[in-house]
Amino acid sequence: MDGQERAPHTGRRVVLFPLPFQGHLSPMLQLGALLRARGLAVAVLHTDFNAPDPGRSYPELDFVPIHETLPEEATSPDADIVAQLLALNAACEAPFREALASLLPDVACAVVDGQFYAALGAAAKADERLEEPVPELEPLRARDLIRVDGCDADALCGFITRVADAMRASASGVVVNTFDAIEVSELAKIQTELSQPAFAVGPLHKLSPAAATAAEHNFLHAPDRSCLAWLDAHPPRSVLYVSLGSVACVDRGVFDEMARGLAGSGVPFLWVIRPGSVRGAAEDVPPLPAGLDMSRGKVVPWAPQTDVLAHPAIGGFWTHCGWNSTLESVYEGVPMLAQPCFADQTVNARYVTHQWGVGLELGEVFDRERVAEAVRKLMVGQEGAVMRARASDLKIQANQSAAATPAIDNLVKYICSL
Ligand code: UDP
Repeated sequence: MDGQERAPHTGRRVVLFPLPFQGHLSPMLQLGALLRARGLAVAVLHTDFNAPDPGRSYPELDFVPIHETLPEEATSPDADIVAQLLALNAACEAPFREALASLLPDVACAVVDGQFYAALGAAAKADERLEEPVPELEPLRARDLIRVDGCDADALCGFITRVADAMRASASGVVVNTFDAIEVSELAKIQTELSQPAFAVGPLHKLSPAAATAAEHNFLHAPDRSCLAWLDAHPPRSVLYVSLGSVACVDRGVFDEMARGLAGSGVPFLWVIRPGSVRGAAEDVPPLPAGLDMSRGKVVPWAPQTDVLAHPAIGGFWTHCGWNSTLESVYEGVPMLAQPCFADQTVNARYVTHQWGVGLELGEVFDRERVAEAVRKLMVGQEGAVMRARASDLKIQANQSAAATPAIDNLVKYICSL
C-alpha cells in the first residue's frame, strides 16, 4: 500500500507529538501519513513555537495546537539548544496533558518525540485521569462520562446545563423511564436535587399494554420476524443477539473485525446489520468479509428486539447500551456484552458492568481475537455464567418492582392536581 491509498478507518486514533524542529517534525508527519493510510485516525499535537503548516502537506491529518507559554529567551535563534529543550519540556507538559485529555478516550496511543520526556510522563498521567472515579457519580469513572464524537466537550456541557436548568426552573415534575430495582439511589438523588416530584414509571416497553404492537409500527425499519423461527431451532441460552440500536454506526474496519470475531467464536448469533450503519462502505449493507464461515449466524436488517430478548434461545446481548436496549435486556434477564458508542451509552454500560454486574465490557481495542474471546466468555465461560445468574436475579426484582410500583397512578393523580 502506498502513502496515498487510504485503508478503511478502524476507529482507532493515534496522537503524535513532534519536537518543533524541522528534522523532527518531518519524520513524525511522514509516520502520521503512513499510519493514516493504514486506517488509523491521526491527530498531531503541536507547539505554537515553530508550528507546522497543517493543511498544506498533510490535509488528511488533524492538527491541534497546544498553546504553550515559552520564555522569550527560549525562542531566540541564539538560544542554547539544551536550555531550549529543557524550556520546551517544562512549558509543554501541562498544555500537552490538557490537549491529550480533551481527545481521550478515543486514543489508542500517543507517539511522542523521544526528547519530549515531560510529555511522556504527562501522557501516562492523562490516561490515568480517565480511570479516576467521578466524585458523587459512583460507579462512573471519567472515561464513562457522556461524550459525542466530534463534539466539543464545552459545547456538550453547555447543552446539558441548559437542559438541567430548564428542568429545574420550568418543569412541574419529571417522568423517568426506569424502575426502583435498578436505580433506587439515583432516583433518590434526583428527588433531593429537584424541588418537583420525579416519577419512575418504567420499564415502559413492558408496562404499556399497547407497547408491543405499536412499537413495531413506529420504527423506521420493518422487523424481520423470520429470525424468531430461526431462534426456535436453537437450544436455550445458546444464541448471542447483536445489535447497536437505531443510530450508532461503526467503521468498516470495526465491522470486519466484528464479523470475523463472531464467526471465530463458534457461538451461534443473530446479528442486526442496519442499512447504512457501516461508515465507509459503498453499499447500504456491506458484504461480510470473504471466506467466513457464517453457518452459525443469521443476519437481519432489523429485529423484533423485545421478542428476541424474551426468546429462550437468547443467552446474551452484544449491545451499544442505548437506554431502551439496556432496560429491555435487564427486564428479560439477558446478560450483556457492552460496546458503548456515544452519548449516555458509556454511562449505561458502566452500570451494566459495574453496578448491576450483568455484563462484560468489550473493551476499546477491537480485533477478531478479542471479540471471539469476549463472546465465548459471556456465552460459555464461567464469568458469563455469573453474569447470567445475576441477570436472572435482577429480572425477578425488575418484575416485582414493576408490578408493585404505583408510580404511574401517582403520576396521574399529580397531573390531575395541577
Ligand atoms: N430495536 C429493534 N430492532 C432492532 C434494533 C433495535 O426493535 O433490530 C429497538 C430496541 O428494541 C430499542 C430501540 O430500537 O427499543 C433502540 O433504542 P436504544 O435506546 O437502545 O438505542 P438508540 O437506537 O436510541 O441508540
